[in-house]
Amino acid sequence: MLKRLFRKLRPSSSGIAMPTQTIIPRDHHTVSRKRISDNALKVLRRLNEGGFESYLVGGCIRDILLGHHPKDFDVATSATPEQVRGLFRNSRLIGRRFKLVHVQFGREIIEVATFRADHSSAGGRKDKSKVADSGRILRDNVYGNIEQDAIRRDFTMNALYYTSEDFSIHDYTDGLRDIKQRKIRLIGDPVTRYQEDPVRMLRAIRFAAKLDFEIEKATAAPIRRLAPSLGDIPAARMFDEILKLLQAGRGLKTFALMQEYHLFQPLFPATHTALESDPYYQRMIERALHNTDERLRQHKPVTPAFLFATLLWGPLQACRKDIAAQDIPPIPALQQAIQVVIGNQSNHTTIPKRFGIPMREIWELQDRLPRRQGKRAAQLLEHPRFRAAYDFMLLRCEAGETELQELCDWWTDYQKVEEGDRKQMERQVAPAKRSRPRRRRRKPSSNE
Ligand code: ATP
Ligand code: MG
Repeated sequence: MLKRLFRKLRPSSSGIAMPTQTIIPRDHHTVSRKRISDNALKVLRRLNEGGFESYLVGGCIRDILLGHHPKDFDVATSATPEQVRGLFRNSRLIGRRFKLVHVQFGREIIEVATFRADHSSAGGRKDKSKVADSGRILRDNVYGNIEQDAIRRDFTMNALYYTSEDFSIHDYTDGLRDIKQRKIRLIGDPVTRYQEDPVRMLRAIRFAAKLDFEIEKATAAPIRRLAPSLGDIPAARMFDEILKLLQAGRGLKTFALMQEYHLFQPLFPATHTALESDPYYQRMIERALHNTDERLRQHKPVTPAFLFATLLWGPLQACRKDIAAQDIPPIPALQQAIQVVIGNQSNHTTIPKRFGIPMREIWELQDRLPRRQGKRAAQLLEHPRFRAAYDFMLLRCEAGETELQELCDWWTDYQKVEEGDRKQMERQVAPAKRSRPRRRRRKPSSNE
């Protein structure tokens, strides 16, 4: 059982109210060293030996307390990034907005962040602190002590500090109480904290879905109103966030929460419009997310290319229709529509080329899958994106394009049968109907 033992009030030199500190000794909490990565413990020890304070903090402590397996281990320290860099040969400085150090041990990376403080102590230094008129923090490199660091963190459950000096946990924000009550509570004034970093709204719903926690009332209340401010976040940061939201095992539930809190629209405005116009797209995305969650549960691979192909299928159809209405033939219309849809979405979430190219291929193959006569079927089967394109077609069918059922069955059988039977199947295919009637040649007029 978790129990509160010591409570001390820390005096504040700056006048800002300092939090109350509670120390929970090792025999009163459930975080055992066995659950902690050896590399993370090594980092803590080396920092301590170097004369610095160091703690494990954030998701790893929260998750161990909840009996989950931590995804990664984050360290907070009094050492500056340069001092950390000096202690570990296997490390590199990363980030500009939020500088930190990655210490690399084979495939494992331990993230080491210096204690942060409030921006009022930056002394106007632009390399340390930069805040937009909206209140959004553009640069967050003002260093401080552990108490200041604790109140700069997002949620109380993420502000628990574990030290390897006596294995106790330091709690400055009543995070343990909230973990016990399964509540997500922002530290400080919710509106200010969301204005500083709107991504905290996404983090709130991500953790709600992942941990089955409730978002505490005052933390939930401003989200719908402030949701549009997510539009100001750099598109590259948003791409990573989307993967954490939708491709980390609780995608279906997270998507529902994103819609409920109006957080989906600012990130995918064109998809939001498609969702409003036709429930087919809603079914398709939900189905895809359900399948992704299932695959992750079974430790099967998933790709952002498939996720983005699904999310942007609605906008692609609408755009293709608009372009085709200008009498542009189907294939160039598709190519143009792909350019437009990817271009527009990139203003909200970047789509790195390594995913953009296969996403495009999944879409292009949708037009090719019906054309199976002669050698075409065998060639399509060899295409590196065949399997994803086939799965995508099944998804379209399940979402409501029931006219694809026969084609789906054909391809399912074709993959199963022996070489000789494949030839037979190819011969039986009737030539595919063109997706658009051939344009009749204009008769030369008499005066031409
Ligand atoms: P997980 O790694 O399981 O997704 P996490 O809580 O560890 O969850 P990270 O993104 O690894 O999330 O961040 C580590 C810690 O850094 C958080 O627990 C929190 O204390 C702090 N943190 C991360 N992002 C923010 C933010 N946007 N605002 C304030 N604090 C943050
Ligand atoms: Mg983490």
